[in-house]
Amino acid sequence: MYCTNPVKHRARRQHICTWCGQRISPGEEYWTWASYDAGDCFSNKMHQECRAACDEECRERRDNEYMAYSNERPAEV
Ligand SMILES: [Zn+2]
Repeated sequence: MYCTNPVKHRARRQHICTWCGQRISPGEEYWTWASYDAGDCFSNKMHQECRAACDEECRERRDNEYMAYSNERPAEV
């Protein structure tokens, strides 16, 4: 799987975090990047802390796949 470099944004409208499925409210900072897998393009959007959790899990499992919208949102740092 190929991923673009994550870019940090400040939300101007509401988004849904692809890690935890919770709202990313306007004004909150979040990370976005695209991943490509078998010709499919998926747009990732995550809270700061969710991205950190995702990074960690991907490192542990040595792949970049995760179950979208069904993960625990970590406590804010
Ligand atoms: Zn999240």
